[in-house]
Amino acid sequence: MKYCRFVHDGQVQYGAVEERGGRPQIVSLIDAPEEDLRYRAEHGSASPLSAKFEAIPLSAADLLAPVTPSKIVCVGRNYREHVAELGNEIPAEPLLFFKPPSSLQRPGGEVVLPALSERVDFEGELALVIGRRTRNLRPEEDWREVLRGFTLANDISARDLQKKDVQWARAKGFDTFCPVGPVVSDELDLDVGVNLSTRVNGELRQQASTNDLIFSVPFLLRHISAAFTLEPGDLVLTGTPSGVGPLKPGDRVEVSIAGIGVLANTVEAE
Ligand code: MG
Repeated sequence: MKYCRFVHDGQVQYGAVEERGGRPQIVSLIDAPEEDLRYRAEHGSASPLSAKFEAIPLSAADLLAPVTPSKIVCVGRNYREHVAELGNEIPAEPLLFFKPPSSLQRPGGEVVLPALSERVDFEGELALVIGRRTRNLRPEEDWREVLRGFTLANDISARDLQKKDVQWARAKGFDTFCPVGPVVSDELDLDVGVNLSTRVNGELRQQASTNDLIFSVPFLLRHISAAFTLEPGDLVLTGTPSGVGPLKPGDRVEVSIAGIGVLANTVEAE
């Protein structure tokens, strides 16, 4: 199943997404997950499920980031060629950092280049959406049961600040530095591997298979949940392949995986 989160008749809704006539359509409204109801209560908006809905193309919908995570856990240096392109060593164990939920950006929304940075890079990534509270996932447990599904993310990074600051909180954490979406899908087969690609202004810049991950998804889930309780709706960004590069105002950056679609965002100066 695939779903999106969007604004419909002024209300935040979740919609089931299916291919119809060769393109993805929102075909029905579905219940919001529990963490989103909590999120809305905290943000003072309640959205009753509308009974009546006519299918609309996903491309015509006012999409939001499809998740409301309590935290965004990211993995650095998880593809060999990317480790090499930035002159780093292959890590002995996954390198983890956080992006704040305030960095989330919707599909189609602008990535804002902060005046504080002179080099801001795109990093297309496969992201995992947690489906149930998880602490200390064990090897004998089925990691698939922990996941609600997969989505796309762009781990926007102020490369100069990343080098300058010892901690990456600022470099990775600016508002709009975590575009996510357009849908969450549970239909990917990671045992076969999925191909991720990133384009800037239509030009292919990153292309890799998840088979090339240094640390696999089950390994990451065990490693991360040994440190933090993962909550429903939390995001895990699995790392970026080689080919990262700077963005400038007016650029359009697109991250894609067959089965999830295209996460497209434009870039503007602060
Ligand atoms: Mg990254």
